[in-house]
Order: sequence, then C-alpha cells, then structure tokens
Amino acid sequence: MSIAFVTHPQYLAHDAGLGHPERPERLRAVHDGLDRAGLGDELVAVGPRPATKAEVELVHDGAYVEALERFCRSGGGRLDPDTRAAAASWDAALLAAGAGPSVIGRLDAGEFTAAFCAVRPPGHHALASRAMGFCLFNNVAVAAAALAGRGERVLVVDYDAHHGNGTQATFYDDPRVAYVSIHQHPLYPGTGSVLETGADEGQGTTANVPVPPGATGDVFRAAVADVVVPLAEDFRPAWLLVSAGFDAHRRDPLTDLGLTSGDYADVTADLLGLVPPGRRLVFLEGGYDLEALRDSTAAVLVALAGDRLRPEAPTSGGPGRGVVDAAAVAHTRAWQHQADAP
Ligand SMILES: [Zn+2]
Repeated sequence: MSIAFVTHPQYLAHDAGLGHPERPERLRAVHDGLDRAGLGDELVAVGPRPATKAEVELVHDGAYVEALERFCRSGGGRLDPDTRAAAASWDAALLAAGAGPSVIGRLDAGEFTAAFCAVRPPGHHALASRAMGFCLFNNVAVAAAALAGRGERVLVVDYDAHHGNGTQATFYDDPRVAYVSIHQHPLYPGTGSVLETGADEGQGTTANVPVPPGATGDVFRAAVADVVVPLAEDFRPAWLLVSAGFDAHRRDPLTDLGLTSGDYADVTADLLGLVPPGRRLVFLEGGYDLEALRDSTAAVLVALAGDRLRPEAPTSGGPGRGVVDAAAVAHTRAWQHQADAP
C-alpha cells in the first residue's frame, strides 16, 4: 500500500514578498524531505484539482471568497499585518484548498493508506471571512467540512506551534468535527486556552494544550496520550486530519518550543492508531527553518508508511506536563457536560 504526496507547482508561485518567512523555499525543503524519506515507489505524487467554490464556501463566506479573488486578480497586496497575496496566490490558494477533496475519493477507493498534502499557502489561521497569519483559505477545514458533509466524524489534530484559531472557530459548535491543538503559549494568535472546549452541541469536541516555551517531545506525547486519545475514545472519529506545522521544532526562528524531527516521528506515529489506514490526511501548515522542515517531513512520511525514521534524537524534560493535566480535566468536564445535557 502506498502514500499519496499531494503537491502542485503553483504552490511555489504564491509569494508573500521579499524576506517573508512563509516563502517558496519552504516547499522545496519539504520536497527534499520526501527524497530523504527514501520511500521509493511507496510514495505516489498526486496533482490536486482546485477546490470548487462550493467546497470553499463550506468554510468561508461567499463575500470573502469573491473579495479575495478580486484582490488577487487586481495584483494583490497586504491583507493583514502578516499576510500578503499576489496575483498568483488565487490559483495557489484554490489548489491548496483542493488538496484534501482531490485525494479523499482515492483514499475511499483504497488506493492509499494516507495522504500528505504539501500545500502553500498554509491554512489553520484563516477564518470564515478573513485571511490571517499567512493563511488565505483554511485547507484542513475545507477537507474536514467535505467529510462531515457526507456524515463522517472527523478529528483534526494540530501540532503546529501556533494555535489554529481558524480551524477551531469553524467547528467550535459543530458535533461532527473535533479539534485538538497543542501549541505554544504565549504566542500568536493568543487563542487556545485549556478552557476553550467547544460550545453548544460541540461542547467537549475542542481541546487545547497551550504549552510553555521550551516544551519538549515528551510533553507533546503526553498530550496525545492524556488528551487526544481520551477525546478520540469519547468522540470515535472515522477520519484523522493532522495540521502538521513544523515550527514546534527547536530550530524554528519564530517560536520557542523544543521538538526535533525525531519527536515529530513519534508524535505522528502515536496519532495514527486513532483511525484505520486509508482515513489519514496530513496537511502542511507552518515551519520556517528549512532543515527542520526537510527532516520533519521525512520523519512524518516514514511514520505514515508505518516505519520510524528519527533524523534527530527525541527530546524530553521540558516544562508543560501541568498544562497537559489541566487540558485532560477540562476535556473530561466538557464532554460530561455535553453528555448530561437534556
Ligand atoms: Zn505556526
């Protein structure tokens, strides 16, 4: 069985401007990681189609989609203090949002055990009506919404160093899609406290583990064991979508966490058992050090193939276990509250 590697040349054409950390070279580093994974024929390149407007509008407001298209087509510019789009960004954004929908049918058909979507621009900060934090469309949310729309239960796990505020907001009161984020706090965008656990029918389907600077791989693995696994036992997902940001790596210039590529291998492997093979999609989010991107991509791809590659040793001993415990308690309370609701 093989792994789909979803990518497109247009992802390189999105240019956020000279000196911007979210740069095309990131994707070249991810491609180097693919070579380093050494999976040969087990990895199959898949070219995505653009998302349809109907698919994008499962997550984003129609008025925002139209405005973004006009903005890009008229040459683009600055969308928020951190986020820029240019003319080529429109097609790149539609192809990034289309990565999930393009490959889900082939996963359904049993063609692949998993898919790695090497997309740009990233997505997890994008809100229904606003670009934010380098993100235009919320790629992982578009895939989750497509699956939920046909009756599937979807778990999104986000181990990017930043909180995926856009993904959380999209599904905050939605009982069909669960969202768990492990992220650095304090850090942009500032959301994602342990007390954010979902609302209304979605109570208990969101969990947040905001770990302090210096947190290491053992803390992320504890978050998986003590928060993600119990939530999955409650929620019973059919699909696992991973927002794979590699900016929790200790080399990353924008953050202060302590992970290595070896930790990314282990944390990813810990997550895969939550759903059967063929129901696993990974989306590239952030990660701004090129070596860290290359090695972490290789580690995650090999994990998806059921093996273990640790280009660097796993880490332990950093702070944050108390936050994991607090998040576990917050989830249990929220889920119980939902179960007790009339
Ligand atoms: Zn990030």
